[in-house]
Amino acid sequence: MSIGPGYACVPCQTYLRPRKNDIYVLTERGDGGPYQVWNADLWECPDCGHQVILGYGLHAISEHYEQNFSTWLSMGTHTIKGQLKGLSEEWER
Ligand SMILES: [Zn+2]
Repeated sequence: MSIGPGYACVPCQTYLRPRKNDIYVLTERGDGGPYQVWNADLWECPDCGHQVILGYGLHAISEHYEQNFSTWLSMGTHTIKGQLKGLSEEWER
């Protein structure tokens, strides 16, 4: 598939492979309420099975206050619950 440097799983010394393109990622607020829907890609290590979400668009497709949010909410295939470690400063802005 891809040739040359790419996303790699360090413990396995294996390149990640794209598992599914165009997933819809729902992010939730710290209290569990829906927050944003993002378009991204799902990659996977073929050896250990760890999955990572990469290739986000520049902006969320929709946010909780937008009129079309419920439509995008129903398209969600992957959910990131609450406040991720390492993103807390970003989320508090
Ligand atoms: Zn691995």
